[in-house]
Amino acid sequence: MDSVPATAASSAESVTVSADASAKVIDGKLVVKQVREEIAVEVSRMKDAVGIVPGLAVILVGSRKDSQTYVRNKKKACEAVGIKSYEVNLPEDSSEEEVIKHIASFNSDPSVHGILVQLPLPRHMNDENILNAVSIEKDVDGFHPLNIGRLAMQGRDPFFVPCTPKGCMELLHRYGVEIKGKRAVVIGRSNIVGMPAALLLQKANATVSIVHSQTKNPEEITRQADIVIAAVGVANLVRGNWIKPGAAIIDVGINPVDDPESPRGYRLVGDVCYEEASKVAGAITPVPGGVGPMTIAMLLSNTLESAKRIHKFK
Ligand code: NAD
Repeated sequence: MDSVPATAASSAESVTVSADASAKVIDGKLVVKQVREEIAVEVSRMKDAVGIVPGLAVILVGSRKDSQTYVRNKKKACEAVGIKSYEVNLPEDSSEEEVIKHIASFNSDPSVHGILVQLPLPRHMNDENILNAVSIEKDVDGFHPLNIGRLAMQGRDPFFVPCTPKGCMELLHRYGVEIKGKRAVVIGRSNIVGMPAALLLQKANATVSIVHSQTKNPEEITRQADIVIAAVGVANLVRGNWIKPGAAIIDVGINPVDDPESPRGYRLVGDVCYEEASKVAGAITPVPGGVGPMTIAMLLSNTLESAKRIHKFK
């Protein structure tokens, strides 16, 4: 059975290599396999002990093909670990009130421990009104302002952390990357990735800088970082000479670039120029196969955590 190698999972040294060596690959697929196995064991332990099965409700408004695929993948992932999923599909022209009515019904449904509203919502809807309607105790996406606020505050903890940044942290932890006291740079400051990633690194006692579209000297700032999380959406923005030798690089970006040799005519690359960065970094996530698969795994983890908390199951 594949598993994250002991050296990768437990030793910070394993990601600090000399500048001329190749970086260790942080293998998201392998970690996801491990995380899913752990979740499946816990789901079954909970069911056997207290007869409760964690439940995730997904609300999809409209018929965007990409959103339908994401929802299908989330449902499949739930089934694979024994989490029950509930789905509501609403037409594109639904009103905000209708969506909120369904959220309210899931908020009070004891078999539902997590509620997710698939984004983007149709243009006529106000995301804020809708996301605010999700109970913070079932907000498994971690997007509710109260959960983000708690993440930002000293001495407070959110009920949930947004899934993609949580996945970035999980990869760092599982590969033994030391965070406390290290310098970290997050490139990008979106509400769903960059900003919460920076807050999480700070909570883990890193000294954090945020580089964004208005930053004057991104290369210089990034070069100081022991840990870089890039979440921008610009193909190959971060070049090899932006990177401190031995740094750990988490590349969240997923960007299509033309590739006539690929059957689809394009391939996916990250925000970090992998070819250059992997010669300098100590450890790096590939794209695809790095952060990408972690997001759904963290959604499952948040749903299990929620069910355990609600039912006081240790
Ligand atoms: P976003 O567009 O909401 O935010 C991008 C951020 O990058 C902004 O804060 C902006 O200030 C910053 N930025 C833009 N140009 C920049 C530049 N030249 N230099 C520095 N910063 C710059 O995007 P997002 O939703 O945070 O997503 C970022 C990337 O991550 C995208 O490629 C997206 O596809 C990918 N993504 C992956 C996952 C996953 O792997 N599961 C999840 C979410 C997003």
